[in-house]
Amino acid sequence: MKILINNASTTSHLLGGNGHDVVTISLVIEKGKIVQVLDCPLPASQTVSTDSTFEKVIDATGLFLSPGLLDPQVHFREPGMEYKEDIASGSRAAVKGGFTSVVSMPNTTPTADNAETVAFMVEKASTTGLCKVYPTGALSKGLEGKELTDFKTLQAAGVVAITDDGKGVQDDSLFKQALNDAKALGMPVLDHSEDESLSNGGAIHEGVVSRKHNVNGIKASSESVHVKRGCEYSEETGGHYHVLHVSTAESIEAIRQAKAKGARVTVEVSPHHLLLCDEDIPVKADGTLDANWKMNPPLRSRSDMLACQKALTDGVIDAIATDHAPHAPHEKDLHIEKAPFGIIGLETAFALIYTHFVKTGKLNLNTAIDLMSKQAGAIFNIKCGRIEEGADADLALFDLKTPFTVTPSFFASKSQSSPFINETLYGETYYTLVDGEIKYARC
Ligand SMILES: [Zn+2]
Repeated sequence: MKILINNASTTSHLLGGNGHDVVTISLVIEKGKIVQVLDCPLPASQTVSTDSTFEKVIDATGLFLSPGLLDPQVHFREPGMEYKEDIASGSRAAVKGGFTSVVSMPNTTPTADNAETVAFMVEKASTTGLCKVYPTGALSKGLEGKELTDFKTLQAAGVVAITDDGKGVQDDSLFKQALNDAKALGMPVLDHSEDESLSNGGAIHEGVVSRKHNVNGIKASSESVHVKRGCEYSEETGGHYHVLHVSTAESIEAIRQAKAKGARVTVEVSPHHLLLCDEDIPVKADGTLDANWKMNPPLRSRSDMLACQKALTDGVIDAIATDHAPHAPHEKDLHIEKAPFGIIGLETAFALIYTHFVKTGKLNLNTAIDLMSKQAGAIFNIKCGRIEEGADADLALFDLKTPFTVTPSFFASKSQSSPFINETLYGETYYTLVDGEIKYARC
């Protein structure tokens, strides 16, 4: 299929050049690749006949062309919990948000701690997935934190990283061994940093709100203790330590110091930890807290949120991740202490970052897109994030000018568990192409 994207705005930075200037281009896509990047208006020598040459012409006038986004952390729940989400619905949410690649977590049923389960995910993604799905393999068998999995076999089956996400690894020596073994295979270890002796079965951040509502709290130190451990082990082993969904000021400080020493440490942050804090959790009519604001790590204090924002704008953060973690409505309707951790995020991530950080002048658009594509991919050695001839035609077209409001029916996920419903945002996706095929078009 030959496609022309006509008259799109983008930046020379995203075309692989220097500078932040906005340029207007047209793109010719063939056999899944970008084959021509043309200046607009087209010079006479490059005039293309739009009527007969192309099977599809996308008029991108007024839209911004971005490389397809990559999300370093999603939970697609398949196999085992398809009532919450499956690879088809999860990837539908991804392309609706402009994501063309996602890295999926291994806490499925069965756990992705063996080659068969990983092979099933790879196969399912190729048949029902709308975007590229890169699986990760469990660090320990059954995520039990006792015995390491066979990293080499998992890698051969297709995993791009090792992680027990959903849980922290409590055994220090097991974690250190994992960093060492993954290093030999060139893979990062992704850490859900949580010392369970300090999180103590809590439901929200331990602070003013947990005390006021008499809800068991998760100490901020439950994260930073493990982040400090990971940074230290990374320095000792040379292994690549990646901090998933960072949420506290203390963790960020430890990462900042480890990076300054040259350790192979990377970190991602999620839009909800950048934009919300524990004080924002709404109280329902029955007087209890709304579980659609419950995730792990939890929404922290206001000063932690501000530390996340500072880390984003001063360059400590390597990537933005949604931690898209869908649950069924009946599960999230429960009392906040009983409801499961997790909210969705794929459909709103780009618009949230664009509206709150780019439009307000806190973050350059190129930087924001790099954090959601090129730099996010680099954590896993996945090359993406540039609009260049020869590259995969993984692309997104956003409307940066017209506001839209997030409603429950806006979501493509099976879940609507989002704290951002009713927000008015900028940056709605109009088209998403994966390997040159249109996988999402706003009707
Ligand atoms: Zn996690």
